[in-house]
Amino acid sequence: MPTYKNRDEKNFNQAALDYHKAEPKGKIEVIPSKPHSSARDLSLAYSPGVAIPCLEIEKNPQTIYDYTGKGNLVAVISNGTAVLGLGDIGAEASKPVMEGKGLLFKIFADINVFDIEISEKDPDKFIEIVKGIAPTFGGINLEDIKAPEAFYIEQRLKEELNIPLMHDDQHGTAIISAAALLNALELAGKKIDEVKMVVNGAGAAAIACTKLYIALGLKKENVLMCDSKGVINHKRENLTPEKLDFIVNTDKDTLDEALMGADVFVGLSKGDVMTPDMLNSMAENPIVFGLANPTPEIDYNLAIKTRKDVIMATGRSDFPNQVNNVLGFPYIFRGALDVQASGINEEMKLAAVHALADLAKEPVPEAVILAYNLKSLNFGRDYFIPKPFDNRLITRVSIAVAKAAMESGIAGRAITDFEEYENNLLD
Ligand code: NAP
Ligand code: MG
Repeated sequence: MPTYKNRDEKNFNQAALDYHKAEPKGKIEVIPSKPHSSARDLSLAYSPGVAIPCLEIEKNPQTIYDYTGKGNLVAVISNGTAVLGLGDIGAEASKPVMEGKGLLFKIFADINVFDIEISEKDPDKFIEIVKGIAPTFGGINLEDIKAPEAFYIEQRLKEELNIPLMHDDQHGTAIISAAALLNALELAGKKIDEVKMVVNGAGAAAIACTKLYIALGLKKENVLMCDSKGVINHKRENLTPEKLDFIVNTDKDTLDEALMGADVFVGLSKGDVMTPDMLNSMAENPIVFGLANPTPEIDYNLAIKTRKDVIMATGRSDFPNQVNNVLGFPYIFRGALDVQASGINEEMKLAAVHALADLAKEPVPEAVILAYNLKSLNFGRDYFIPKPFDNRLITRVSIAVAKAAMESGIAGRAITDFEEYENNLLD
């Protein structure tokens, strides 16, 4: 059994097993939401009363949102092929992660989740299974599915289903890191359309992140992308279509060469691949996102020691500026479900990016500072991404996403009173 590095707590592995094994086993359960103590209650909940809403939905399918839990139910679906950093561990072994995601959806945005682990690696068969069960759900969060299959699976399901659907490993990460990037650039005094960026990694997360940064103004010709074989340039052969899209005409072949003079490094690859020499070769106020989990591309303390002017984020909770998907997916789905959006489009993603970036620049409430045992939290190098236990996230992000869905014409239902909606979100 692997013991995770840098965990102070003794017996952390045993604590994790005990936590999951405690009764009731696992992390989520189903609870009835209607009265069920009398014979009459049961005659309404089930036969014969249940037939009435069935017939209403048959007549008018949209009323499924009135008579069932569909509108607040998300499927967290995986085939277990790229679980955390653990790789292809299979559908069964992925279940604790999917249940965990269910827990996060519930506690942060009061969204119900069925976790669905599907033992199917063939993308076309997987797509058919997901399409078959889609009527149950108001939204679908695809999770921990290996690239490049994940690109194809998500693309087809987006086209063929008309509910909010997102592969969180791609777009969740893209949204949170894009918000971090906007704020880091502001701190560095640099403009997104002028900076030179090196993206290390060309997998699910790296490709989605880079596309979103480009949507925010980054120039594609200013990006050098590297995979495990080095810079993706014109000399490379047998590239996937996703990698081909980022090919550049350069003689630079290695990460060292790519980083010389670069303004931004985004690591979505492997731990400890960036050396102090590489960091020293970057431009002033270098922005370094070491997002490989659990070990960043360069250790936070080593980076800070190497350069006083570094502006750094990681994927870890034990250092400042954690790029944590939990800042996004609960609230993105909350907003999308509440307007019955037919998908999650670029406008909604960009709205979430700006809502997160703006929130980090506001004064932080005392309760948030206390929740993290800190003396203060002010916008700056040590704080440019909101903290997960910030209860302003639900209103800021969900409202921005719902409004973007309405304005971009993909909402099935309009929210007319946003003040009332905000109060409902806080209840
Ligand atoms: P993925 O689809 O498997 O992609 C991994 C990519 O990293 C591949 O393109 C691979 O290259 C490349 N790579 C491996 N070793 C490399 C090296 N030494 N130098 C350069 N590139 C290398 O995985 P993913 O889902 O995108 O995740 C990638 C990493 O990001 C993981 O560590 C994951 O934990 C982390 N991540 C963090 C967050 C977060 O902080 N919120 C979110 C998502 C992912 P090839 O294509 O040549 O194999
Ligand atoms: Mg994941």
